[in-house]
Amino acid sequence: MTNWNLLSDEEFARAATDFVERACPPELRHLPHRPRWEKSAGWYQAMSREGWLAPGWPVEFGGMGLEPSRHLIYLEIFERLGTPAVAPQGIVNVGPALIGFGTDEQRQEFLPKILSGEHRWCQGFSEPNAGSDLASVRTEARPDGDGYIINGQKIWSTGAIDANWMYALVRTDKSVRKQAGLSFIMFPMDQPGVTVRPIRTISGGEEFCEVFLDHVRASAAHMVGGLNNGWKVANGLLGFERLWSGSAHQCRQALVRLKQVAHAAGKLQDPAFLRQITRLELDVLDLASCYTRSTRNLQVTRRVGFEASMLKIWATETCQRIGELMMEVGGDAVLVQDGTDFDGRHLDALTPFLEARAPTIYGGTVQIHRNILSKNVLNLPN
Ligand SMILES: Cc1cc2nc3c(=O)[nH]c(=O)nc-3n(C[C@H](O)[C@H](O)[C@H](O)COP(=O)(O)OP(=O)(O)OC[C@H]3O[C@@H](n4cnc5c(N)ncnc54)[C@H](O)[C@@H]3O)c2cc1C
Repeated sequence: MTNWNLLSDEEFARAATDFVERACPPELRHLPHRPRWEKSAGWYQAMSREGWLAPGWPVEFGGMGLEPSRHLIYLEIFERLGTPAVAPQGIVNVGPALIGFGTDEQRQEFLPKILSGEHRWCQGFSEPNAGSDLASVRTEARPDGDGYIINGQKIWSTGAIDANWMYALVRTDKSVRKQAGLSFIMFPMDQPGVTVRPIRTISGGEEFCEVFLDHVRASAAHMVGGLNNGWKVANGLLGFERLWSGSAHQCRQALVRLKQVAHAAGKLQDPAFLRQITRLELDVLDLASCYTRSTRNLQVTRRVGFEASMLKIWATETCQRIGELMMEVGGDAVLVQDGTDFDGRHLDALTPFLEARAPTIYGGTVQIHRNILSKNVLNLPN
């Protein structure tokens, strides 16, 4: 097995580039939306077969065990070459949650199936009246024999249309403080009582779903972290998600697109534009170095700290600022959904501009993260 951390940065970057060029079909690259599973399963399985699927997981669980700085190189190359993020909930969220909070039996049962693509996951946290206020989850799980019966509704479940397993936050005790009565449970989606309805987004994608749960069964062995301990597991998982969305790689991609549009619009030498883009580039460099320091801390402490909130706000809002400048310099020519021929080359600026709204919302809105920082770092009152 390759120890990726022993390669030099250049050797690792070359190996990653070679792999993507060879294994990721051109028709899956630089897509405006995440492709459906039926189209992308081959790419997922190629990453799995050749050991490129789980860069952040420890080697003992089938991951690459990459150090944070190496992980960033991985993300940058995969992003620059336009690879699609396929079924990421398993690798990015539930896998790390099981590694951190699951039992040995749960890890043995689920991690290999995430890696093989046999299980494709979606997240069932948000509900119509429990988004920012996640502790208000009302979907209920009642004990029944050796498991639970679940009733309720989830919303904004990304990828539920292709998922065959959901991990969800459910209410298992109504008599205690809101946070203390929640559990984290996993169940198969291909059973009676699960109804999935896609929701079309502003950029035309349909990976968002409402999921209705009507007497759905979950095994007690599939509860993670123990009964009524779901708040801790969910927060641990959201910490990983926040840290992931706080990396600079999406901003870097947005800067590349911005330069392409500016070039096509003849603005690349314009002093006013240069001033604006330099400010953004410096912000992205600062973000990247802060992100690297935080992921190094994570390796030592194994805890995602409050800096994840700062990184998430910084990365997602900077990405939006880059998108806004791109729309400004591109003018009318970029206001075409799914791209337009711009100075002899096909560019889609509108879809990423619209999609940059989403990261400031998922994993906790930027307003909620500002509340977290005000309270926990600045010690301001609630
Ligand atoms: C692209 C995308 C993917 C997502 N994927 C998933 C998924 O897979 N699974 C899942 O469970 N959920 C998912 N979500 C849902 C996401 O977690 C919620 O949208 C988010 O937590 C906000 O909840 P809400 O939409 O109910 O908004 P609300 O909580 O109703 O908030 C509305 C507005 O009020 C503000 N607000 C609310 N409370 C406060 C407060 N106390 N202080 C200051 N401002 C406040 C918010 O910041 C926001 O601007 C996804 C969302 C997006 C955009």
